[in-house]
Amino acid sequence: MSDGEPVSLSNARGRLDRILSPDPVRVAAGPGAGLTLGVLALQGDFREHRVMFERLGARTLEVRRLGDLAGLDGLVIPGGESTTMSKLIVANGLFGPLRAFHAAGGAFYGTCAGLIMAARETVEGALPTLGLIDVTARRNAFGRQVHSFEEDLDLGLDGGPMRAVFIRAPRIVEHGPGVEVLAAVDGHPVAAQEGSVLAISFHPELSGDARLHARFIAAVRRLRDG
Ligand code: GLN
Repeated sequence: MSDGEPVSLSNARGRLDRILSPDPVRVAAGPGAGLTLGVLALQGDFREHRVMFERLGARTLEVRRLGDLAGLDGLVIPGGESTTMSKLIVANGLFGPLRAFHAAGGAFYGTCAGLIMAARETVEGALPTLGLIDVTARRNAFGRQVHSFEEDLDLGLDGGPMRAVFIRAPRIVEHGPGVEVLAAVDGHPVAAQEGSVLAISFHPELSGDARLHARFIAAVRRLRDG
């Protein structure tokens, strides 16, 4: 590109998001084959989750309204900004239906802002959360944007530690007895599971490592196939 030439932020289809992350491509033989997962697509990095799950063979649908919840085997709440996400969930009439999906035994996978939305409550207490997992979350617990970091985290997964990307990440400050802590940073839980709800402080959808996504698929499959 020569100097002075205008920089286009759009591609031929006029969609900046398609430049930032590729189109989801389903790998037919993956472990998620036959499953349909909804990805809450009101705000945040829902596209990156779709790419990961389609790579694992699952069909993914973007969830924006009540009708999108029909027929789903599990739901993903992406990273983003939890205050905005919470407002949009309420404005789109999804607060009650998402809780009802959980009450009916539905599986959830929340990352970063998704962990905050899934929590029973936050330390800050200002925003309504969905209460899908018995944890209290502290928002921005590692500091501001400039304190974002990456770390190799031991999650007890086959294949060794996972590169974990923390971006203005929350952490878990309290949890109930039914919650299994999967990993901690400086003694603070950053990954937890209760039944078929998986809540992660960092962004597995950004690191290209699909092992936690695969763990969620296994939980969804256990629920569905008994
Ligand atoms: N700090 C954000 C919040 O409080 C979460 C950041 C993220 O999802 N990367 O909602």
